Amino acid sequence: MAARILNGAEIAEQIKAGVAAEVRLLAAQGVRPGLAAVLVGDDPASAIYVRSKIKACDALGIYGEGVTLPASVSAQELLERVAGLNRRDDIDAILVQLPLPAHIDKHVVLSDIAPEKDVDGLHPVNAGLLSQRRDSLVPCTPAGVMELLRHNGIATAGVEAVVVGRSNIVGKPMAMLLTNADATVTLCHSQTRDLAAVTRRADILVVAVGKPGLITREHVKPGATVVDIGINRLESKELVERFFPGDAKRQINFAKNGYVLVGDVCPEVAEIAGALTPVPGGVGPLTIAMLMVNTLKAARLRRAGMEGRGRPSPRESALAERG
Ligand code: NDP
Repeated sequence: MAARILNGAEIAEQIKAGVAAEVRLLAAQGVRPGLAAVLVGDDPASAIYVRSKIKACDALGIYGEGVTLPASVSAQELLERVAGLNRRDDIDAILVQLPLPAHIDKHVVLSDIAPEKDVDGLHPVNAGLLSQRRDSLVPCTPAGVMELLRHNGIATAGVEAVVVGRSNIVGKPMAMLLTNADATVTLCHSQTRDLAAVTRRADILVVAVGKPGLITREHVKPGATVVDIGINRLESKELVERFFPGDAKRQINFAKNGYVLVGDVCPEVAEIAGALTPVPGGVGPLTIAMLMVNTLKAARLRRAGMEGRGRPSPRESALAERG
């Protein structure tokens, strides 16, 4: 039986509508959450990402500010701009679009963002809080995957989950969130021996690598939920035909745009998985929706003062109350 398709776009719209309603409530109190997105250099993909983040802010009543700096900017100048944003009262949320030029150490920059404004969840304080299962700003893409699972009633407690990819922004926090949600988690990477043998154990398989066609039907247990985070461009007609044989819609898209987007999971996996996210339209829209959620959260957190930092998560409190 063909897999159930997990539509992220619909859930993202619901989440954004919820954020817009809360933003209106804040506006009645004279508060407008603000996000600054810092773009260094002229990488076209990064520029598109930043524009779409600012556009999402505009649509929800959040103040969005793009800060564009040349690729030649010094690390010191960039740090000074970040420090300025940390100090600004109208900015609740800051993100620095990655990648940064090679002469700038991203870890130094990300660690200089005030943790309470770090809406990408990449500051070591937020990563640490997440690993301790405490409330924090969580990276948007894995947070979006958890929403996708929750909205579709896919249970995590006690299940075998396998995450492929161990980046700080996707794979590792994904593994941590699934662990915190009581899944039994295995984290795979480029050095994993016999990837298929590991991924076949998964009830929930999350793939974030950036290699089209990496996951085939041999990697998937029948009935598993497969979440495809990878985004890759197929830029030749032959590749489009190889991945999507006889798919007229994709061929039209290729003729129009010169490329077709594909994840890391082969389309044939839909024949064996129980549920599968599409690319595009799966996890992607949720990433921006969760950025908006994090911006709202940062605005509330900052206005509530820092006393909320590192407090136990609601789940942890409930467990403590039960004794
Ligand atoms: P990175 O390049 O930072 O990480 C890729 C990971 O994949 C690494 O951990 C790497 O292992 C692992 N890997 C590489 N080759 C293999 C292999 N053959 N088998 C198993 N693991 C392998 O990428 P990101 O985490 O930033 O992004 C991953 C993908 O997700 C990309 O396609 C990106 O475009 C997409 N993405 C999508 C988003 C969305 O909104 N949908 C948001 C963010 C990313 P090692 O550590 O050993 O090198």
